[in-house]
Amino acid sequence: MDKAHQFLKLVYGYDSFRPLQKEIIDHVVSGGDALVLMPTGGGKSICYQIPALMLEGTVIVVSPLISLMKDQVDALQANGIDAEALNSSNEEYVNRAIRERCLRGELKILYISPERLMLEIPWLQQNVKVAMVAIDEAHCVSQWGHDFRPEYTQLGTLKDQFPTIPIMALTATADKVTKADIIEQLRLHQPRVFVSSFDRPNLSLDVRKAYRKRERLYTILEVIARHKEESGIIYCLSRKGTEDLAADLKVHGVSVGIYHAGLSHEERTRVQNDFINDRIHVICATIAFGMGIDKSNIRFVIHNNLPKSIESYYQEIGRGGRDGLPTETILFYNIQDLITLRKFAEESGQRDINIEKLKRMQEYAEAQLCRRRILLNYFGETNDCHCGNCDVCKNPPQLFDGTTIVQKALSAIKRTNEQTGFILTTDILKGSFSATVIAKGYNNLKTFGAGRDIPAGDWHMYLLQMLQMGYIEIAYNEDNHLKITPMGEDVLWGRRQAQLSVIVREDLRVKKRKTTISLQEVSANAPSEDQQLFEKLRVLRRTIAEELGKPAYIVLSDKSLHSLVQEKPVNLLQFGNAYGIGEHKKMLFGERFVNLICSHLGVPRPPESSQ
Ligand code: ADP
Ligand code: ZN
Repeated sequence: MDKAHQFLKLVYGYDSFRPLQKEIIDHVVSGGDALVLMPTGGGKSICYQIPALMLEGTVIVVSPLISLMKDQVDALQANGIDAEALNSSNEEYVNRAIRERCLRGELKILYISPERLMLEIPWLQQNVKVAMVAIDEAHCVSQWGHDFRPEYTQLGTLKDQFPTIPIMALTATADKVTKADIIEQLRLHQPRVFVSSFDRPNLSLDVRKAYRKRERLYTILEVIARHKEESGIIYCLSRKGTEDLAADLKVHGVSVGIYHAGLSHEERTRVQNDFINDRIHVICATIAFGMGIDKSNIRFVIHNNLPKSIESYYQEIGRGGRDGLPTETILFYNIQDLITLRKFAEESGQRDINIEKLKRMQEYAEAQLCRRRILLNYFGETNDCHCGNCDVCKNPPQLFDGTTIVQKALSAIKRTNEQTGFILTTDILKGSFSATVIAKGYNNLKTFGAGRDIPAGDWHMYLLQMLQMGYIEIAYNEDNHLKITPMGEDVLWGRRQAQLSVIVREDLRVKKRKTTISLQEVSANAPSEDQQLFEKLRVLRRTIAEELGKPAYIVLSDKSLHSLVQEKPVNLLQFGNAYGIGEHKKMLFGERFVNLICSHLGVPRPPESSQ
């Protein structure tokens, strides 16, 4: 076994590297610069942490967020690695102590914020053997990236200050322009660029179209019920959206946290800490939430509204399932969100780019082919996969001749001289005497009520399909009125047939009854032996986490707990072989977990010498 593998097993308790990790480590250990592109949760940290263990001296890691640093340092310390974070939120005496440890050569890894690094450089140059500099979230250096940070631009001078030391830039943002810009701005010297697959097969992908508010709420409640005692994030478009949804969930007895930029810094920190430490399981948040969250056991991510781009969407769902266990994602898609986001894009500084990005997001939500395929193609991994873990693969769309339905809708639009948006069109089709309908006299149209037999929610779906197939378009510059395209005219005048896909709608009422029954059934059935053991292990993990004042997932990951249930180690040696348990954790917690497992099994603890 080579050195890198030994550290992987000994320190982290993992058996094998993920693709590219080993190549990256070898490259930087032999002195080369590198640019590493891996999706969130892909395993970037190990790429600089293992070199830190192999190289002489200290590896400096530049990271933009204090909460991220803290999490990483906790995780490293839990594995017995000497790491600290130097930043402005520490008391000065703490920073001084860290500097002293660094001087004594005790630190393998020093995390530092970019602005702080600039202040510390003279001192580091003179007194510390810097083995490598790793720049995390490196896209922050680029104006093209989605998260430009001015303090990152100074990092370009690092190459002059440490000309002989390898620099590694890491990011989960993959687009071409940003990539080239990172290399240029950081002045990387003949870097090797490592691009790993952006696929995250453990994330299921699911889009629910045109759900009404109540349907959405029930779906969300169901997801939460399926993940009792487990964590999840629900992203909303606006502050008000987070508050409203949280209020609705509370009515149904779910305890939720709210997170958005309008809250005070203290409040946000409190909510984030409660989430990380499993005191709150569900968070309703705007996209402000998540950048600093390394929590590995997030089991579901729901988008209550459409995200503004595929990049944001992928990054947000990427916060789920970092531990590799199955994780659910659901995106709710409706026209109103599309219109709101379009307005934001119009008003943004980079109108054309943002509109283009939104279009791609819309295409994704409307697509009828494997969603993973679309995502991976978007990130430049051309493929024709059929993943089996997205809603399209699981329920391939069934088409039928929808010409009459499409004609009814087009005719309603036509008769208003294309002066209606989504809601008004639906009102006319349904024959609803809404205030606008009456004011405009649309109740006298020939098509008024022509689509009474179809539920309003289904009309929303059909109109979405028509939009996607190019029969209609939204005139964003004319009050979002619907316009008929030439292809739509062909359908309207019977020159072309229109295929629609069958709307599959879960009957949530039936489902709800079923859930109650199954919950009763579950509570009647005693939990299995293994479930009982898992629960006991979870409680012990929480006790230890509280003693240490660290999050539970830092003590042991969910995957490690599952591995313990499977292997049922009765001595330390076996315990150390379980997934994700290195030497340090074995020595620290091994005794307690092994004792618990022995007593659960009703077997005496065998003497360690008999191993
Ligand atoms: P990111 O790329 O988002 O920084 P991390 O470095 O936090 O991802 O890694 C995500 C998770 O995957 C962590 O829990 C990490 O311990 C785990 N991981 C990384 N490499 C491996 C590996 N070779 N085997 C098993 N788990 C790994
Ligand atoms: Zn698929």
